Amino acid sequence: MKFDYHIHTEDSYDSSIKTIDLIDRAIQLKYDEIAITEHLDLLPIEMKSYGAPSLKHYFKRINDLQNTISELTLLSGVEVGDYHIVKDYAVSLLEGINFDLILGSVHFLSDQTNVAIPLKKQLSEEQIRDYYLQNLALVSNCDIDVLAHLGVYKRCYNSIPVERIHYPIIQDIFRVIIDRKIALEINYSSLRRGYPSFIPEQHILELYLALGGQLFSLGSDAHFIEHFDLFRDSIPQEFSNSFRYHL
Ligand SMILES: [Zn+2]
Ligand SMILES: [Zn+2]
Repeated sequence: MKFDYHIHTEDSYDSSIKTIDLIDRAIQLKYDEIAITEHLDLLPIEMKSYGAPSLKHYFKRINDLQNTISELTLLSGVEVGDYHIVKDYAVSLLEGINFDLILGSVHFLSDQTNVAIPLKKQLSEEQIRDYYLQNLALVSNCDIDVLAHLGVYKRCYNSIPVERIHYPIIQDIFRVIIDRKIALEINYSSLRRGYPSFIPEQHILELYLALGGQLFSLGSDAHFIEHFDLFRDSIPQEFSNSFRYHL
């Protein structure tokens, strides 16, 4: 089973991928299933820059494509940024649209630092604690299928930091997602940015496994066609085929 459940295409403001090109490439590379997961970023600062996407239009577009493809399964999804902060608004936009996958992710800290873009300097321990607490609030309060890119702030680091003091919060996150049957995404976008591991790293995944976690998702988080499939081979087999979203 070869799949990628985190890809951005033409309905994401920051992606240059044409969905049809992605489908061609995925068929070439023998994928069984891919999920398009366009951004739903609703914080005021994001709305000011990008506006609200038309989810109905996007959903219809993917549906129309689904009807033309037989070589692979195309899923429709969204990545809701900072869902717990914009929950009511996000729920109202998602209502009545039957997406296959809802990803939840934290992009902003309480102090407005955007941790999804290259950081000017490394985060303080306090900011890292805040980052994980935001993730805990997200998974506790929002209905999502997948927790996306946990540890995203490390993507621009060049070595793996010691996060031992944050393990108790990370374990709380894992307890909640296990209880709520939310899959943990292994995101390999970090590898193409020079970070020496996918995220969460093996030692963080061990914490999840030790608590009984078994549901994994896998995502390239590609925004450019040449990034799709890149470094996918570096994910250990035991994780890369263990989660399949059931329609
Ligand atoms: Zn993201
Ligand atoms: Zn993404």
